Amino acid sequence: ASMIYEPVIGLEVHLHLKTQSKMFCSCSAEYFGDGPNTHTCPVCLGLPGSLPTLNRAAVEKGLRLALALSCQVPEFTQFHRKNYYYPDLPKNYQISQYDRPLGKGGFLEISGHRIGVTRVHLEEDAGKSLHPSYADYSLVDLNRAGAPLIELVTEPEISSPEEARLFLAHLRSLAQTLLVSDANPEEGKMRADVNVSVHLPGTPFGTKVEVKNLNSFKSVQRALEYEISRQSQLLASGAEVAQATMGWDEVAGKTYLMRTKEGESDYRYFPEPDLPPLYISQDWLAEVKAGMPELPRAKEERYLSLGVRAYDAAIIALEPSLASFFDATVASFAGEAQKIANWINADIAGYLNEKTINIEQTALTPANLAELVSLVDSGQITGKVAKDLLPEVMAGVSPAALVESRGLAAMNDTGELRALVEQVIGQNPEVVAKVKSGKTQALNVLLGQVMKESRGRATPELVRELLQEALGAQV
Ligand code: ADP
Ligand code: ZN
Ligand code: MG
Repeated sequence: ASMIYEPVIGLEVHLHLKTQSKMFCSCSAEYFGDGPNTHTCPVCLGLPGSLPTLNRAAVEKGLRLALALSCQVPEFTQFHRKNYYYPDLPKNYQISQYDRPLGKGGFLEISGHRIGVTRVHLEEDAGKSLHPSYADYSLVDLNRAGAPLIELVTEPEISSPEEARLFLAHLRSLAQTLLVSDANPEEGKMRADVNVSVHLPGTPFGTKVEVKNLNSFKSVQRALEYEISRQSQLLASGAEVAQATMGWDEVAGKTYLMRTKEGESDYRYFPEPDLPPLYISQDWLAEVKAGMPELPRAKEERYLSLGVRAYDAAIIALEPSLASFFDATVASFAGEAQKIANWINADIAGYLNEKTINIEQTALTPANLAELVSLVDSGQITGKVAKDLLPEVMAGVSPAALVESRGLAAMNDTGELRALVEQVIGQNPEVVAKVKSGKTQALNVLLGQVMKESRGRATPELVRELLQEALGAQV
């Protein structure tokens, strides 16, 4: 019998903080798309004699995330130098945090499973090395040097690649809701290193492998699946897993060996002498707490209490742009909130996916969506007409105005509908004969015709009744 190895996963996630200036200088932290080395100063260039100054906003954003993850925040937090040499690290050390991080011992709950958050700490980013194909030399861009980062490390408590993806999705949602980070992997504002090992249930953890710098949720999941299967095959064949740092080749769909891991002692951590320990007063912490918006979990609870189904509540609560749109729409809608959720998670989601945009990038307004759903809800238009109108409503047009100008009001008037039914019956003698001979399925052909002639304005149930009545067909 083949043995089933269980994966054990821990994540290390870097989030780019959404602050105006860098971590230890006043250079702008919004350099995306700007020319190389245009956002630099003596501090982030690491020039001798320059001194770092801690960015208060970065600390507050870090505190927000630490609190949202239920971390313990110490009275004093401290910065350390982590020494290593890279061409894009001008000081030859990174200012990071070591034994006194901003937060410790938190957790994030994923579908009822608590994943421990070992630590949350602040640090600065390095610059970027570029290797242009036109040259036989490399270039360095130090715009990113000194950019503010938050690093989060989880306990080895994630049990599947899917759970790892959900953890990241929840973390991104928290970071966006708290305005801590844009957390979009595409712009490199969220990067994850994954640690993974496999073992047989009931036995000690296996040797872990670290896969570095995964910049999409999809790559995280694929790299984990690949490693779990690779490690399981090794163990099953009697071999051992070697501890290593790996990279992920997106095209080949494989991990590759980067280097054997450095130990902590290689970094020669020591307290940053230019920054004293930072005192975090209870007052300051209370102030940060008081300024926190409603978190995704609380939103989800609130939606459930509005009668929204669990599936829909979870999706909307997790996406800040959907959640605020949903809230505004529900506020101007008299019916059940679930009806708005249905539209957002079905037709609107389909439209957004197809165009790969989010709801804020459309001209749809909460008032127009509420109006559209009310028109259907009150029977003034059919669901079919509403769906047909959606693209224009998404482009900012009022649905009521469209219904008015195009005469799209539902045909509730049986007189008018009866005439249409008679017309279609008259035009389709063969189909009528089929229905009369007992092939009641053929009734759907007539029904479709009437629906088409009515431009979607007829309610199918009513049309069916009228057809049955006119043809004396059995139900
Ligand atoms: P290191 O000393 O190699 O830095 P840590 O214990 O600090 O290792 O953990 C680093 C990351 O690896 C954490 O996210 C942790 O959850 C994860 N991790 C630790 N041990 C294992 C294991 N046996 N399998 C998978 N992940 C692990
Ligand atoms: Zn600077
Ligand atoms: Mg470690």
